[in-house]
Amino acid sequence: MSTIFSKIINKEIKADIVYESDKILAFKDINPQAPVHILIIPKEEIARVNNLDGKKHSELLGEMFDAANKIAREQNIDDGFRLVINSGEKAGQSVFHLHMHLLGGRIMNWPPG
Ligand code: AMP
Repeated sequence: MSTIFSKIINKEIKADIVYESDKILAFKDINPQAPVHILIIPKEEIARVNNLDGKKHSELLGEMFDAANKIAREQNIDDGFRLVINSGEKAGQSVFHLHMHLLGGRIMNWPPG
């Protein structure tokens, strides 16, 4: 099922895009939880981690991590950042289109709440 992120991919809804390739889009989170908070998403509609197949999606996942590293360098947070993927409502997932949160620019506490 399509989500608001499909509308961002199709440019029907505006977002502050920081990276785009044929397979991936990255944009600023509308409700940032850190000075740098960017969402990295596949253009393919994959609802959550549970729907990933390691072999089938290996290239895509590799690209998502490459994008995270590139954006972290550009945003000057490559000395310390956090990548988060919530999978399922119990984990706090609210948009059911796979997305990696890239968070940085402040001290990250551990364990998370
Ligand atoms: P999650 O709770 O892991 O599903 O994360 C969804 C994230 O999407 C939240 O951090 C929201 O603030 C963010 N979000 C929802 N709608 C938009 C939007 N239109 N543009 C940017 N970020 C959004």
